[in-house]
Amino acid sequence: MRGPSLAPFLLLAACSLPHPSRHREAPVEAIVLGNAQDGGLPHAGCGRPCCEAARRDSSRRALVSCLGLIDREAGRAFLVDATPDFPEQVEALNRAAGRPAASLPDGILLTHAHVGHYAGLVHVGREVAAADRLPVWCTPSMAAFLRSNGPWSLLVSEGHVELRETPPSTTVELTPRLRATPIPVPHRREFSDCVAWRIEGPGRALLYLPDIDGWDDLPGGLPGILGGVDVALLDGTFFDPASELPGRDPSKVPHPPIPDTLRRLAALPGRREVRFTHLNHTNPANVPGSAESRRVEAGGARVARAGERFALAGGPPTP
Ligand SMILES: [Zn+2]
Ligand SMILES: [Zn+2]
Repeated sequence: MRGPSLAPFLLLAACSLPHPSRHREAPVEAIVLGNAQDGGLPHAGCGRPCCEAARRDSSRRALVSCLGLIDREAGRAFLVDATPDFPEQVEALNRAAGRPAASLPDGILLTHAHVGHYAGLVHVGREVAAADRLPVWCTPSMAAFLRSNGPWSLLVSEGHVELRETPPSTTVELTPRLRATPIPVPHRREFSDCVAWRIEGPGRALLYLPDIDGWDDLPGGLPGILGGVDVALLDGTFFDPASELPGRDPSKVPHPPIPDTLRRLAALPGRREVRFTHLNHTNPANVPGSAESRRVEAGGARVARAGERFALAGGPPTP
């Protein structure tokens, strides 16, 4: 989200698209396809060092937060959220899954109706891919938004997408070895409710939670939603909201600051892999080697990186 000030902020962010040959392939896995807040990096209209650096150096660009799911045995691949970077992320998913470059995902799971999370659906309509009944799993609230607002309504009425309404906390079977459950989370409801997706493979469970207003209003809190979760990708929008939204009221766009989440994580029993995603363009934790990024690592977590994979089929974590 854009801050109006021209005050300089140093933000360098690394973004590299997946290079499958560098990774061991797991039969069922999740892959990070982007780690930036809805506006990406560089951010339109931002002239501060964070975005100027990303314009000069493409390795510092970051695509919008998105997750891919792959079941190699079933030959299926899915996206969690359809972002403004949809074309590039679909290609990265296809490369990682070993599918033809022109493949569309076998389905899309949506978290909520803020632009970074569903606007990529424009690419499956008549003007672009003209998909044939592409499955879209979302809550009834999100489905109602898509059905009743153009241009999304045309995707539904013309049969380009098939909305698979999934009430919060009900589980869908994406493949025989890949299950997904939307978990309701408190987040600004301008257009729809918001969910995190809990993804279960044959051996491990992953939580994808890119947006939440704060942990205190979440039923069961962080301990509840992380129960039985081996890998958690959590809202890391801001490290220090006051300095990362100059001239704006952070309470209008609430997110739990990363240090707050790290404190809560430190008090939890058990071990899990934690990655922060959905970082605002001004968030210095996205700069490899920054003091903020070192604090994340000292807290036992990391910032999610595009191309990073997580095996969901049991056994040790994918390196
Ligand atoms: Zn968002
Ligand atoms: Zn949002």
